[in-house]
Amino acid sequence: MKQSRQTRQKEILYSEVKKFSSFFNAEELYEKAKKKDRTLGIATIYRFLKDLRENNNVHFYVCERKLIYSFDKQSHCHFTCKKCGRMSHLKIDSLDFLKKKFGAICHFQIDVEGICMDCL
Ligand SMILES: [Zn+2]
Ligand SMILES: [Zn+2]
Ligand SMILES: [Zn+2]
Repeated sequence: MKQSRQTRQKEILYSEVKKFSSFFNAEELYEKAKKKDRTLGIATIYRFLKDLRENNNVHFYVCERKLIYSFDKQSHCHFTCKKCGRMSHLKIDSLDFLKKKFGAICHFQIDVEGICMDCL
């Protein structure tokens, strides 16, 4: 039986998406997938990522007003300086105290605002 174009494109997207080892966004996935199938459109990418989100198959965060995704990174944290506006990423590995309160944690994002060392 011949595969439908949709099924084939979904398979391409699944295999491409698994190749990201850290965070990725829709455009990055689009760039990779386009090389495998030139007929693939950005709308297909957005639909695919929406499916992933709704089926809880991916962790996702907001980074610089864009949605970013990850299969293995369970947290994404920012520190933004209120004075100079500089934003940096920081790593917070666990929020164990929350586990005791709520149960299991899938992923978390923390956005901290403050004043950086240089501006203090
Ligand atoms: Zn998650
Ligand atoms: Zn970020
Ligand atoms: Zn600053």
